[in-house]
Amino acid sequence: MSEEQLSVHFNKHHAAYIKNANELMAKMDKARKTNKSLDMKSTTKSLTFNMAGHILHSLFWENMMPKDKAKHKPTGRLAKLIDRDFGSFERFKKDFSEAALSIEGSGWAALAYDWQCDKLVILQIEKHNNNIVPSLYILLVLDMWEHAFYIDYKNEKKKFVDGWWDIVCWSEVETRLKEM
Ligand code: FE
Repeated sequence: MSEEQLSVHFNKHHAAYIKNANELMAKMDKARKTNKSLDMKSTTKSLTFNMAGHILHSLFWENMMPKDKAKHKPTGRLAKLIDRDFGSFERFKKDFSEAALSIEGSGWAALAYDWQCDKLVILQIEKHNNNIVPSLYILLVLDMWEHAFYIDYKNEKKKFVDGWWDIVCWSEVETRLKEM
């Protein structure tokens, strides 16, 4: 991932979700203080979209690291759970990559932990906020919006996904699992 790609993504795209969420919350506060009505359908829709956009991007930055320092494979409890729930690390990578590459429109692939069933689950999140199971704890995310790869890879999504596996920060994913 080039510096330019990361910089545009972080400073323009991610920043826009934060700005939009803050503006919406200010708008809601103002409407309530001045006793004006709110369009709750569009307001709540836009708020979840922008808040989830911010949260997912925050996870995304944290679960990547420089390629020359990356370990390329999980260890410990996470590695054991991946083997148990997906058969092998290679099978997990295959299924996760397919979930990422088959998103209709913009979205994310995510690895999540279902603490109620003690099971890892792959999610295919549409936009930033659709197809999320509320109780699942998200451990790892891959941004599959075009803005995540258009400078480096143009329309070659598969090359982006293949390259991304080399910069996953597995220790961060393991730390998030430990928090559960
Ligand atoms: Fe993004």
